Amino acid sequence: MTVLVLGGTAEARALAAGLVAAGVDVVSSLAGRVADPALPVGRVRVGGFGGVAGLARYLVQERITTVIDATHPFAAQISAHAVEATAAPDVRLRRRERPGGTRAPGAPGWSWVPATAAAVVAGAACTRPFLTTGRQSLEEFLGWADRDALVRVVDRPTFTLPPRWQLLCSRGPYEVAAERALLSQHQADLLVTKDSGGTHTSAKLHAAGELGVRVVVISRPPRAGATLTVADVATAVAFCRRSSS
Ligand code: NAP
Repeated sequence: MTVLVLGGTAEARALAAGLVAAGVDVVSSLAGRVADPALPVGRVRVGGFGGVAGLARYLVQERITTVIDATHPFAAQISAHAVEATAAPDVRLRRRERPGGTRAPGAPGWSWVPATAAAVVAGAACTRPFLTTGRQSLEEFLGWADRDALVRVVDRPTFTLPPRWQLLCSRGPYEVAAERALLSQHQADLLVTKDSGGTHTSAKLHAAGELGVRVVVISRPPRAGATLTVADVATAVAFCRRSSS
């Protein structure tokens, strides 16, 4: 009996480590989006399954009885696929999700928007934005080619950035002091971020708050189904052990 962890997050890596340490047979799955991913311990498979049908087939082939969806809060499609593919009564699904909403929606200087397009509208008055929403959504900001944007991504974008944009390729976690220095050096007047949550992304929010930099936060997409959650690694490991015994 094998547990499948849908990963690509620090939470998924912590979970894989906990499951391996507990002697649970686990395979972690990564989408293969980044060139040099942080790998979880234990078995790893990389690449899409081929939609709901492909994932359902994989579960049968690999005798998976438990799926833990520990993907990023913005990875809505794979989560929806997991809900559909685990509809069979002999497969259990749980969601491990980091808390979001780092600050109350009404915090001064913060705008919460439902999608990237709305962030472009909400932040339109900026001149020196710091864009941290990831490579996949970057093209939506191309209307800001005339701004001095600082763009932080893990891997280089596949298109040529406007000449006034400055590219920073790096991967978190980040410290508050370093984020404060980065925002100050760039003289940023806006931070655009997703409500990714977790300690890995909170440093820039604290730094922006300290410096009085405006923040536009893209809210999490709605989730398909009402998947039961596991609050932490220990609970998830206990659940998987029960399920696989
Ligand atoms: P998505 O839109 O929900 O998924 C798109 C497709 O990518 C899925 O239909 C699936 O392809 C494949 N896929 C996604 N996650 C997978 C996984 N863990 N294992 C195997 N295939 C996977 O996902 P996304 O937003 O592109 O994110 C991709 C991955 O990056 C996620 O696993 C997520 O945890 C991680 N990540 C995402 C973000 C973000 O902001 N979106 C940030 C950090 C990390 P098939 O239909 O072919 O199965």
